[in-house]
Amino acid sequence: MAINLNNSNVATRENRIGSITGYIGSLKDLATQSECGTLKGCSRCFSQSSSCLSSCALGQLSAIRDIAIIHHGPAGCSVAAAGTYYLDKVMAKKRGVTNNTVYVGTDMNENDTIFGSTEQLKKIVLEVNKRYSPKAIFVTSSCATGIIGEDIDSVVEDIRDQIDVPVVAVHCEGFKSRIWATGFDISDHAVLQSIVQPPREGVKSNKINFKNFYESARPEIIEMFKNFDLEPTFLYCNSTVEELSHLSEALATTCICGTLGNYLGNALEEKYGVPYIRSINQCGIVGFETWLREIGRVTGRSEKIEKYLEEQRAIYLPKIEEVKKQLKGLKAVLGMGPGYTFEVSRVLNELGIEVVWALAWHYDKKYDNGDVPPSMKYLLDNDIDFEASVSDQQNYEVMNILNKYQPDLYLSRHPGSTVWAIKNGTPAVYVADEYMIFGYKHTLDFAYSILDSIQNRSFEKNLAKRTKLPYTDWWYKQNVGEFLVHDKA
Ligand code: SF4
Repeated sequence: MAINLNNSNVATRENRIGSITGYIGSLKDLATQSECGTLKGCSRCFSQSSSCLSSCALGQLSAIRDIAIIHHGPAGCSVAAAGTYYLDKVMAKKRGVTNNTVYVGTDMNENDTIFGSTEQLKKIVLEVNKRYSPKAIFVTSSCATGIIGEDIDSVVEDIRDQIDVPVVAVHCEGFKSRIWATGFDISDHAVLQSIVQPPREGVKSNKINFKNFYESARPEIIEMFKNFDLEPTFLYCNSTVEELSHLSEALATTCICGTLGNYLGNALEEKYGVPYIRSINQCGIVGFETWLREIGRVTGRSEKIEKYLEEQRAIYLPKIEEVKKQLKGLKAVLGMGPGYTFEVSRVLNELGIEVVWALAWHYDKKYDNGDVPPSMKYLLDNDIDFEASVSDQQNYEVMNILNKYQPDLYLSRHPGSTVWAIKNGTPAVYVADEYMIFGYKHTLDFAYSILDSIQNRSFEKNLAKRTKLPYTDWWYKQNVGEFLVHDKA
């Protein structure tokens, strides 16, 4: 799909790539329906939770160093800034840098939602620029501004001449998509529109754009890439505006999760010819090798990469084989964003653990280049199938599945979900860090974490014995599919 950087609005995942938030069936059926174009998302007759795409978009942007976010909306929407602000400061401190990003809410009130407040917004943008001298300014919307049609594009155009740093309108009204990951695309679109510049003539780069969340494996990946004369530029946590302006000069773009990196990767390839590494991700043995080999192929470094893989295999593979003996035959349920759900399913399969059910918080039928997500394609090509559902973090569906299947293990990338599993008596592994299964070394660590979780189950057993859950026997007898309603369209 062509990426249009002349428009500050980016279409939602539902409209752009046919993503859905409701489905129940099997992995193969999900893929077959996607491929032949018959897949339709279901609605829910009951929804327990949801998340706003604004938080996702603004959380991504505010991690960029020394910028300003001006969130035009009621204080209730801007409150997401509190968590983001804290996280950004912690991540900067951890890296040993300073992030002076400011996050300003315009505190829209009832008058503003009736009469509009674009004049005040202009004054606020100019004042923020004067007071904080940010390196870029993102003027962002909310449901309230979207509903009354506040023209933030015109506000930005009117004041552009008075501000000597990039300034851009960011359309992140929460109501426009059920999929919070649309926020990733919105933040990428804003960065591409306002900060990324065409490549400078004659500049030779050995950089790889690496889209991730919190760069926890930064030192380790820098060291690994030195073996191949490559240098990663991690995005967006602690990025500088200067770094982002040169993304178009990189040798390639890669990401830790296709859900996170798909829009930026495809857009950089389409606009500037920067190749996007389209492979399964770095989790597990096959994932790590496939990913590195694809980088080798794209950057002309295959020989160096094969040598590195051979050395590392000798160190880690015998240990992984050893721990696998103790994991064989375990049954697992997992609930994650769609990128990780299908990547981690592959790793569990590699470790000899049977996935009995996988929940994806949403599902992208295809990515922006029109391909089926590689993690999904790998499972299908290797004839791996299991029951699957698409459920936007509806905890009651997770609990229902855990109660029905009584797995040895539940894995999730969202802490709220693992806490409930533990209260239910199910050992759970919180795959919090995006690098928790990265490469051979972390795959081995991950296997040990699973072993730790299942070997001593007294914590879960005791907690479950003393916890009264709100879910009744009647509730547990319902089929998860009972809550899904097929859309008539
Ligand atoms: S969904 Fe709308 S009203 Fe709710 S927090 Fe997001 S922007 Fe604000």
